[in-house]
Amino acid sequence: MVSLFCKQCHKQFFAYPSHKRQYCRNLCANIARREHRKKLVCLNCGNIVEYNPSHRTKLAYCSKICQYSHMKLNNSPAWKGGIRIITQPNGNQHLHWATGYSQTKYKGHPYGHLIYKSRARILIECHIERLLKRTEIVWHLNGDTLDDRLQNLYLFPSIAAKNKAIFGFHYDMPTKSNIP
Ligand SMILES: [Zn+2]
Ligand SMILES: [Zn+2]
Repeated sequence: MVSLFCKQCHKQFFAYPSHKRQYCRNLCANIARREHRKKLVCLNCGNIVEYNPSHRTKLAYCSKICQYSHMKLNNSPAWKGGIRIITQPNGNQHLHWATGYSQTKYKGHPYGHLIYKSRARILIECHIERLLKRTEIVWHLNGDTLDDRLQNLYLFPSIAAKNKAIFGFHYDMPTKSNIP
């Protein structure tokens, strides 16, 4: 047994040197460990969060509710800019109703808040400042469905008008955009 001094309360205590004790009792060790804790501010609400440095956290939240309400859109590491390009497994990006079109989320859209929608339709709606009807069809002139420039888009008033222009007997494919 050797005589030692507690690091926390500076009292004298006796212990075996092989035990390598630094504190007189568990309570002193716990208090000392708590003082090593680091502090971060909650990214959502501003509360102070304590954490152990061995946890190596970068993002601090006081609760799961704060985390889920903050890690949205561009705060999330999985956020890819709001554009979702669906491709078939064989790499095709052709005119299939669910593949090859660029989609994006638009906050506060009347047809659905934060739901993926066709980027071309949203761009046209922003440009002509009215909502597109569900029957109106957007056509990509150069065939590249990911090319959402306004010069490349053609707006048909209905499916029938689109079919008549593209598949009809006296078809005339549009070559120039009709968006003002
Ligand atoms: Zn002590
Ligand atoms: Zn919080």
